[in-house]
Amino acid sequence: MQESYDVIVAGSGAAGMTAAVRAATKGLKVLIVEKAHKIGGTSATSGGVTWIPNHGLGTDDSPEQAMTYVKAVANGPINEKRVDIFLETGPQMIAFLQEIGMKPVPMPWPDYFPEAPGARADRSVVFPMYDGRRLGDLFPLMREQFTRFKLMNRYAMDFMEANTISTRSPGWKRTLAKVMGRYWLDVSTRKLTRRDRMMSLGGALIGPLVEQFVKLGGEFRLGTVVKKLVIENGHVTGVVTERFGRTETLLARHGVIACSGGFEWNQELRDRYFTVPGSIRNSSTPEDGNKGEVLKAGLEIGAATEFTETGWWVPTMSLPLSTASNFEEIHQAVFDVGRPHSVCVNRNGDRFVDEACGYDRFGNAMMEDQLKTGANTPCWLVFDATFRYKFTAGGVMPTALMPDRKIPPSWWDHYIFRAPTIRELAGKIEVNADKLEAVVAKMNEYAKSGVDPEFGRGGNAYDVNFGDPALKPNPCLGEIGKAPFYAIPVSLGDLGTKGGLKCDAQARVLDSNDQPIAGLYAAGNASGSPFGNAYPGAGGTIGPAMVFGFIAADMVVAEAQKAGLGQFTHNQK
Ligand SMILES: Cc1cc2nc3c(=O)[nH]c(=O)nc-3n(C[C@H](O)[C@H](O)[C@H](O)COP(=O)(O)OP(=O)(O)OC[C@H]3O[C@@H](n4cnc5c(N)ncnc54)[C@H](O)[C@@H]3O)c2cc1C
Repeated sequence: MQESYDVIVAGSGAAGMTAAVRAATKGLKVLIVEKAHKIGGTSATSGGVTWIPNHGLGTDDSPEQAMTYVKAVANGPINEKRVDIFLETGPQMIAFLQEIGMKPVPMPWPDYFPEAPGARADRSVVFPMYDGRRLGDLFPLMREQFTRFKLMNRYAMDFMEANTISTRSPGWKRTLAKVMGRYWLDVSTRKLTRRDRMMSLGGALIGPLVEQFVKLGGEFRLGTVVKKLVIENGHVTGVVTERFGRTETLLARHGVIACSGGFEWNQELRDRYFTVPGSIRNSSTPEDGNKGEVLKAGLEIGAATEFTETGWWVPTMSLPLSTASNFEEIHQAVFDVGRPHSVCVNRNGDRFVDEACGYDRFGNAMMEDQLKTGANTPCWLVFDATFRYKFTAGGVMPTALMPDRKIPPSWWDHYIFRAPTIRELAGKIEVNADKLEAVVAKMNEYAKSGVDPEFGRGGNAYDVNFGDPALKPNPCLGEIGKAPFYAIPVSLGDLGTKGGLKCDAQARVLDSNDQPIAGLYAAGNASGSPFGNAYPGAGGTIGPAMVFGFIAADMVVAEAQKAGLGQFTHNQK
């Protein structure tokens, strides 16, 4: 006999967990089918920052102000109806998280286009550290934090701790001692595992959702890939899965919610959709996870797609670690590329961006420059000994922690390049030396005047977050003058893909005539982003993923009610 559930959710990331918990709290029998052997998807590895304008946690923001902002930063078409309902439902989703015992905390993080009308610095929320012991036997099945978000790939840190230590702000040694002490004094866990039981950032978001889901009787089926959608008389009624080589059909009485992430690990789909080709290996998401099987299954039953031509960009650097996984090799250069005493140039030796801008903006600038010059992706981060002393650069720690002699010999002249002069460095990285010298001379003038007339580096609230507050007149501009000089290649990496199944404001998947396919919903990177190509602020992927997961669950619950399970109704626009 075929197994059946009220609702089947494909994927256990932020979108899937929110949908599943919401549906389970309304009394539905929910199954999460998860391809990986671990729970949490990219979301569990992430910063866990969630962009919810007007979140209701002590803000005077409004949906109107947020809409003004989203429209102003849209870099191409957006789905205005979806943005509208996202803004309306976001606060309800946050209130729901509070009802189930979670404690979202607003974070003073400037929106990624701080100069745009309607921008604010209070729209992102984070979640306090979560004690993995609360998950009991499920704890080892939780996907671990992104390598770089843990100190020495071991110690869990929250945002404040990570920032204090990485920028060596006042009190950093005390913070370091606290982080390490918390780990080593947890003697009972140390006897069992190297893994820190405190789950931070994305783990702190996913952990409590999993706890709730299990409490409510929800079921996981791990290591199980959704391969196809079952459709009967135009209605999606289940999924065809594959597990250990065995194919099985699972039935969903009231709906299937696709929360299976993007297609960043599918080279063929990247090549088919992206305007600038990029390699799966530059993705910073868990390798081999999100390959777009559900997107393809949707296409097979006539679903439409949108915004598939682009990703959530982040510049990445790939450490040459011959025995490590891609996930361990990859370093997001989110902050590194914008630190003072450095500049980014394409392979012609030309600057192309305000290096301290938001990471998706940086990636878009790489794409545009690549299309124009053919000399980007990868580009170069060039820096001096002062930068090297103070900051990290893609896994190369500041000199106090990792002097040059400690850098593995195999990294030199493959990953990190060093020379006594800019001219010689240019020779090593095969960039026009006259141009690179001229760019560095200009940057040094800008450091003195505090103004970057070309790209405005350090001229807005977002940029200065990552500068050196001790540097005057502009914290983002420091002289590139102290030898030796260094360079590291920077690739067009991603945090996932922006496009997917085309959905309406109720998270219903649409066909090529823009008609909903009955019984099929999507949220998160499995669906097209409501913001199109724009990444409005910190948490701009997880925020809508959770909100549309929440909406999709309510829609399925409403279907269940219609079928006789009670009176639940969802505000349907
Ligand atoms: C290091 C890092 C930090 C980040 N930080 C942030 C941040 O702070 N804020 C933010 O907004 N964004 C952040 N991002 C991006 C963000 O994590 C993702 O965009 C977001 O988590 C996507 O959520 P999702 O639920 O759509 O997909 P995911 O979290 O990727 O979950 C999808 C799940 O579906 C499963 N799956 C895939 N295919 C199938 C299938 N065929 N059948 C069954 N299951 C399947 C996958 O295994 C996965 O578990 C970060 C990304 C990275 C890599």
